[in-house]
Amino acid sequence: MSARVTVVGAGVIALLTAVECVLDGHRVTVVDQGPIPHSRATSFDQHRILRALHPADPRTTRAALRAHRRWIELEELFLTRFYEQVGSLTVLPPAAAAEGTALLTAAGGRATELTAAGLADRYPHLRVDGGLGAVLETEAGVLLAERVLAACVGWLKWQRGTELIEHRAVTAVDAESGTVRLVDGQVLHGDAVLMAVGPWSRDLLPASMSDRLTLYRQSLLYCRVPRQQAAAWAATPAVPALGTSGGAWLIPPVAGTALKLTSATACRVVDGITDYATAPYWQRKLEKEFGDVLPGFGPAWVTDAKDAYYSAFAPTGGPLVVALGGAGYAYAACGGTSFKFAPLIARSLADRLGGRSPEPIGVGALDGPLDVRAPQLAGL
Ligand SMILES: Cc1cc2nc3c(=O)[nH]c(=O)nc-3n(C[C@H](O)[C@H](O)[C@H](O)COP(=O)(O)OP(=O)(O)OC[C@H]3O[C@@H](n4cnc5c(N)ncnc54)[C@H](O)[C@@H]3O)c2cc1C
Repeated sequence: MSARVTVVGAGVIALLTAVECVLDGHRVTVVDQGPIPHSRATSFDQHRILRALHPADPRTTRAALRAHRRWIELEELFLTRFYEQVGSLTVLPPAAAAEGTALLTAAGGRATELTAAGLADRYPHLRVDGGLGAVLETEAGVLLAERVLAACVGWLKWQRGTELIEHRAVTAVDAESGTVRLVDGQVLHGDAVLMAVGPWSRDLLPASMSDRLTLYRQSLLYCRVPRQQAAAWAATPAVPALGTSGGAWLIPPVAGTALKLTSATACRVVDGITDYATAPYWQRKLEKEFGDVLPGFGPAWVTDAKDAYYSAFAPTGGPLVVALGGAGYAYAACGGTSFKFAPLIARSLADRLGGRSPEPIGVGALDGPLDVRAPQLAGL
């Protein structure tokens, strides 16, 4: 049966859920506080990493391999390219690299274990600690995030019964009645509601829920690599872990994008969303950290810097789905890996919105019992 679904927010979770709902035959209205897509959304960036390997976690690894396959199907659906399968390199101690390679292979993926010597030989432009090895996966790579959002919007615009409402913040949601109130007083009525407002969830959820969400701010450097290193970087996979004590990671300059550098040390807990500028302290900190990792690197490589926000469910540090009552759900927190899992999350949310029990995603925090303590949201 065709239902009217209201989707609040237009990040990757909301847009892909809207796509799945349309594929299910529903009529969908997507509403965002800004343009669609919105450059301030967590999802809006040049790229996101998809790696399948989750060390010591075969279930999540299998889910990531499913996500890899679904992204390829979505490219076919949207008739466009946004997934650069350049592979993924996770630097680990040798024993963990051997275990990781075995785990990924057993999960049905393709992986090669690299020794320290192999790493140095293959990637001389990365200065990795000499005692470390790595897992190199091939069914992995870089999702061109902005292009993903644009592809979703381009597809949705042409679907009968679908409406995209821009520049209108939602101020209240009553999931039981399926009503959504916009900042100008307009009320949208539907059979089901999804709220996927990323790091802004804390503004719409009641205090009992929002107090359990942690807001993070992370600084990122965007760089131009020297011409003499261009060929080496063109053959570099995504590197979600460089094996440093600080937790440095990088995304290579694929498909005309910049080399992106960041680290767990540049991620901190903050009270609220303010500006997006990278303070000199954080820029210098990252420049210093990468000076130790990339031969020849210096501030002259940096062409831009920005800060981004994301939220996590405090007890797990990961994502959170909340049942709001009726046919209403909130993707209340995304954690650090929701972009790559977005096609699976979206399928699961679309099933819930359509009144069906979803297949388990295989990501613990998303398959657990849902919190049903927020039937009405603040602001009503
Ligand atoms: C620095 C960084 C690196 C990351 N790297 C990776 C990675 O490599 N791989 C990976 O899988 N994941 C990664 N992530 C996580 C991933 O980007 C997020 O999980 C994902 O983009 C979250 O998407 P979302 O749709 O939940 O939220 P968002 O993209 O933030 O979308 C929320 C939308 O809701 C709208 N909105 C907010 N309030 C309202 C309102 N009141 N009314 C209407 N609209 C509203 C906003 O304007 C926005 O468009 C990273 C995150 C960060 C910050």
